[in-house]
Amino acid sequence: MIDPFGREVTYLRVSVTDRCDLRCVYCMSEDMSFLPKRELLTLEELDRVCSAFISLGVRKIRITGGEPLVRRGILTLFESLGRHLKTGALDELALTTNGNHLAKHAAALYAAGVRRVNVSLDTLQPDRFRAITRWGKIETVLEGIRAAKKAGLRVKINTVALKGVNEDEFDRLLAWCGAEGFDWTLIETMPMGEIEQDRMDQYLSLKDVRRRLEERWTLRDSAHRSGGPARYVEVAETGGRVGFITPLSHNFCESCNRVRLTCTGRLYMCLGQEDQADLKTPVRTGESDAPLIDAIHAAIGRKPEGHDFVIERRNAAPALGRHMSVTGG
Ligand code: SAM
Ligand code: SF4
Repeated sequence: MIDPFGREVTYLRVSVTDRCDLRCVYCMSEDMSFLPKRELLTLEELDRVCSAFISLGVRKIRITGGEPLVRRGILTLFESLGRHLKTGALDELALTTNGNHLAKHAAALYAAGVRRVNVSLDTLQPDRFRAITRWGKIETVLEGIRAAKKAGLRVKINTVALKGVNEDEFDRLLAWCGAEGFDWTLIETMPMGEIEQDRMDQYLSLKDVRRRLEERWTLRDSAHRSGGPARYVEVAETGGRVGFITPLSHNFCESCNRVRLTCTGRLYMCLGQEDQADLKTPVRTGESDAPLIDAIHAAIGRKPEGHDFVIERRNAAPALGRHMSVTGG
């Protein structure tokens, strides 16, 4: 699948639910209304759409959400998609999670063929964790992370950089990830979905964060790429890696290789644009995958060049109405 700008699409991110058991302040409002369950693709339909993408050249799938591990029976999707790892058609099946249910599922995820999990953790302080996630208990997440490590999963920690909230903790998080052997990725806040707070107040440029980290740590640019938009540095003191995802201060669209499927079967060709394609109708028209494959080709044929994210005072409304939990970060 080659898009109009010559980029090969090899990476599919799948949001398997819009629901979540946390309410991170930058992601959701406390009072969210979620989709009725009947609008969701079934796990079998999700498998069918993913398998069609794999047949068209997708080599990496990441399951995300919402919180993917709150969807009932989700392990069966990992297990069934695992067959494509065995045949070599798929290189990687990965997961992004808040870690709340990881302790229970880590071993089964490994058995299904998952080797890497991204766990979101914005702080190591229990009170602060509760304040950011509104409902979370940090010990549950840390237990999940320990279980993942024990099961043999490579863990990457994702931290959203929040001005005045966790910026005093980056040295500690970097040191902790280094000691634990976890890669660590810092993410700029993106203007997606209505939340109660002002995004301008939360936004922190990672250029400044990097400059501050460099006062204490020796950061060397690394050629490492994880197939995503993060730019990595190596930390001489810890031997660990730090990634920076900077959609606002540095646009990474030119190398975009991904598309995103929502739990209702809509395909977004860009995280930062509204255009989408309906894959639910073709998947439900019958046994044949031909209509689905045609719809995917048509969608890839209009993948846009890039996003238009901008956070500024005079434009207080989110750039996009939908929340990150719909298209899955
Ligand atoms: N619930 C899972 C989790 O938290 O990892 C998976 C879904 S969550 C939407 C995926 C990632 O998006 C998380 O790392 C989260 O911190 C990040 N995220 C959510 N809203 C964001 C926003 N407005 N800007 C930047 N990152 C955001
Ligand atoms: Fe839930 Fe993840 Fe959004 Fe936090 S970032 S509210 S854990 S979906």
